[in-house]
Amino acid sequence: MIELNVHLDGSLSHDDVLRLAKINGIPEGDILTSRFSMSQERLTIPDFLQYFNAPLRLLENRDSIIYATYSLFQRLHQDGVRYAEVRFAPQQSTDDGLTQDQAVQAAIDGMNAAKAETGIQGNLILCCLRHRKEDQLNIDTVSTATRFLGKGVCAVDLAGDELNHPNSEFYELIALIKQCALPFTIHAGENRGPESVHDAIRLGAKRIPHGIRALEDDIVLNELINKKIPLELSPCAELVTCNSLSLNVLPLHDLYQKGLLFSVGSHNMTITNTITSQEYAALKHNYGFSEEEIIDLILKEIDMAFLDEAEKIALKGRIKRDLKTFVRSL
Ligand SMILES: [Zn+2]
Repeated sequence: MIELNVHLDGSLSHDDVLRLAKINGIPEGDILTSRFSMSQERLTIPDFLQYFNAPLRLLENRDSIIYATYSLFQRLHQDGVRYAEVRFAPQQSTDDGLTQDQAVQAAIDGMNAAKAETGIQGNLILCCLRHRKEDQLNIDTVSTATRFLGKGVCAVDLAGDELNHPNSEFYELIALIKQCALPFTIHAGENRGPESVHDAIRLGAKRIPHGIRALEDDIVLNELINKKIPLELSPCAELVTCNSLSLNVLPLHDLYQKGLLFSVGSHNMTITNTITSQEYAALKHNYGFSEEEIIDLILKEIDMAFLDEAEKIALKGRIKRDLKTFVRSL
């Protein structure tokens, strides 16, 4: 399996939380009263983002970030994932004096430790945040990404409160990202409509996490299909933060047959109570995908990854043998 859409801070396990509380000197009782998981109600993005407050308190020093990243890659491997691109916002880990470079180095160290033990491959995508538009932090994230590109970092992302901070506020930041020749993704089309997805396409996003409100406009949907720009979807959790689409189930199989490219990921394992294999299993059991179609989708996901051609071919060769067994086991 391939996992292209998972956030570190939204995917701390219960055991991670306890261990990280200890590392940070936070009393267990104190942290466990915080809400880490939500039920499947629909929320606006600002409400959804409240769920990150507690985990972010736990990612403020080098040891915590190393452990959290190590644990996430270990759990992904255990779940059957062989390549993952994990999103992480280093600017959220600087309150106690870490620089963004130090935070990223810690995450890379944790990822590499898990790689050494399990063989899982991975990269980090560094998130710029929409609600930080006024300050230097997003610019610093771009600089950090430039220094670590190809050394554990594969891209940058724009994430956060799309409702109150539309793409138009970030044109200068995107221009800087392009100037630095960094591949980038833009979270779009959750709380804002298809025009936000259209804008992300126009700006040059290589992939669009969520983007499901493109379904409200055939022109935008066809643009995604024709330009082969993938969405990053979580079949079980996708509608949680989209309160404007009048759908209860995504027409995923129909979209697949129309040629829309999309990846399948867990996004925030803890916050939405899911794991990667559960998201793939939903394709088979809830969305009518055949096993052959899921294999085809996984191979297409490798093409969507921020890897060079030789790495993609090597990864396909490495997982091909186990794909059938994995898909059958879902
Ligand atoms: Zn996301």
